[in-house]
Amino acid sequence: MTQLIHRNLRRTPPTAVCAFGMYMRDKDGNTYMDASGGAAVSSLGHSHPDVLAAMQAQLKTTAYAHSGFFTTDVAEELAHRLGTDAPGDLNNVYLVSGGSEAIEAAMKMARQYCVENGETQRRVFIARKQSYHGNTLGALALGGNEARRKQFEPLLMTVARVSPCYEYRHRPAGQDPADYTAGLLDELERTILDAGPQNVIGFCAEPVVGATLGAVPATPGYFKGVRALCDKYGILFIADEVMCGMGRTGTLYAVEQEGVVPDIVALGKGLAAGYQPIGAVVVRDHVVERLRNGSGIFQHGHTYNAHPVAAAAALAVQKIIKRDCLLGAATVRGTTLRRMLRDAFGAHPHVGDIRGRGLLVGLELVQDRDTKRPFDPDLQLHAAVKEKALGCGLMVYPMGGTADGKRGDHILLAPPFIATEADLAQIVARLSDALTRALAAIAP
Ligand code: PLP
Repeated sequence: MTQLIHRNLRRTPPTAVCAFGMYMRDKDGNTYMDASGGAAVSSLGHSHPDVLAAMQAQLKTTAYAHSGFFTTDVAEELAHRLGTDAPGDLNNVYLVSGGSEAIEAAMKMARQYCVENGETQRRVFIARKQSYHGNTLGALALGGNEARRKQFEPLLMTVARVSPCYEYRHRPAGQDPADYTAGLLDELERTILDAGPQNVIGFCAEPVVGATLGAVPATPGYFKGVRALCDKYGILFIADEVMCGMGRTGTLYAVEQEGVVPDIVALGKGLAAGYQPIGAVVVRDHVVERLRNGSGIFQHGHTYNAHPVAAAAALAVQKIIKRDCLLGAATVRGTTLRRMLRDAFGAHPHVGDIRGRGLLVGLELVQDRDTKRPFDPDLQLHAAVKEKALGCGLMVYPMGGTADGKRGDHILLAPPFIATEADLAQIVARLSDALTRALAAIAP
């Protein structure tokens, strides 16, 4: 029997037949509110007529042009826009096919930047524990998600690791946040020194951690400290904005809120809001100049780089975000959503933390609020929440806790920027129902 391989090889998911605005419907007639934008992708909701029109227009002119032969106006315009709207001199844009490829390209560009300067000994990347940067071998090596890495470990390059900035679990009660931040920066500096600064290519982190920790922003000053250390030791700072970028946290680039300019930013997901698979690497002038003045070639390149229809979708998405003031909407709606969640779950015995920035919002679930003790990961609470939520007609994006208790189960919410207050109230009501059912289902 021939078959489509699904990630879960034992279970075929429901068949999606149509999607419109906040809603998706399956073949059995069930309707779901998309409160997670899939995996924090669909920032404009589904079937936006202006994006569809832009894609159709592009399909009629040039559906495909190999980037080894041609460029296209639409790819040039998208790059110009992303570069113009980026902070500092992040003026240079390389278009790829998704988030993992954006990270691969960022890693390769960073390594090439060193090699073209004769610094071939630079081969160490530093990244954070409990991070996720994608699923291809390079991106997987960078990420610190042990469960995902485990069986591929022999194939992955060694990456030096530092602690994430995760106040809820790691800042002891009573410790000044500034001291907590200083401790993390000390750890990063020690890690750079242990590796030998002359051997380090770069440091990679998500400005707001999405999937692995559940919408965790950094403490004030953390990224300024990171930037200062990278400058001090001459290493590159790579910001992974695949999930938190493109307006999700209320500014087009999440780092804008940190007041720093990374050397390289990786984009994906919200770039074309799911209408097409596309990612990008946005790069500062000094990095591109070194490659231009050196070999003159960036040693990367996939068949679908700068795909015209994907670029048309992304360009339309970017125009709509600006035209409809959706960055402001993401900020305001995010504040409203967190307030509604606090009203509903602020005293809930098993909701330990409600956090996030803009419309990237997370809830961490705990066995005990006072001690922050997580649920036993074997109970698979996150999976129960996902299943019960689907039963309540709601899509959420949950992640399990770790066996070592370093992280509890959490639920990520990433509704589209077009969500109304009534939509948000509906999300909270359905989530409340789903959580009650999930807790009942895992109770012994
Ligand atoms: N980086 C981050 C922070 C992500 O959240 C993801 C995907 O979830 C990726 C990279 C990889 O993106 P993709 O799944 O599009 O390859």
